[in-house]
Amino acid sequence: MSKQTILIIEDERAIAEVLSYNLRKEDFEVLTATDGQDGLRRAQTNLPDLIILDLMLPVIEGLEVCRVLKSGARTRDIPLLILTARSEEVDEIVGFQMGADDYVTKPFKVKPLIQRIKALLRRKKNATAEGEIVVGGGIEINRTQHRALLNGVELSLTPTEFRLLWALVRQPGRAFSRHELMEASMGDDALVLERTIDVHVKSLRQKLGDQAERIETVRGVGYRFRE
Ligand code: CA
Repeated sequence: MSKQTILIIEDERAIAEVLSYNLRKEDFEVLTATDGQDGLRRAQTNLPDLIILDLMLPVIEGLEVCRVLKSGARTRDIPLLILTARSEEVDEIVGFQMGADDYVTKPFKVKPLIQRIKALLRRKKNATAEGEIVVGGGIEINRTQHRALLNGVELSLTPTEFRLLWALVRQPGRAFSRHELMEASMGDDALVLERTIDVHVKSLRQKLGDQAERIETVRGVGYRFRE
């Protein structure tokens, strides 16, 4: 099996070096970038298995890098671990806007950080290994068969509802903006009002019966599937 690649976007050379050294020792392939622009380019070109992103970066700020990565079709599923010295920003980071998968505040210890990285990679691998089936709250979705079951009973969903549910269940706990959900369920070129998603969500909730409240409204943002 080929090595897993980790991209480190960090302008503090000492930190980048410590991380690179330890990750290579753990048999990872390591790429580094020292500013946001270079980091984005490397992420988009190399499509690493995981990205470690510092927030305070020259040229393009870490938060912006995060936003671009999480809105790009090819990069949005890459696990993203944020490094930050600013613990007060953590809510924002793990919240919908940034969509980061995990974060570590500086100063950090290398060993726990590597464990977090491995956990993220495992989670991603499990998601892939399970193929198209995701189970959350009595809900089971098989994308290959295009079937969704609720407590073992098949749901009759429109294609849009199906994709919407898939997007939400796949990342439980993550708040999605209406725009993100539109992209996920109707495609990038959907020229519809963001409110349209509310209509689909409403209908989806009705079909989900006793699991309806699993789809939570995130005020001022969009929706989230409760874990
Ligand atoms: Ca920095």
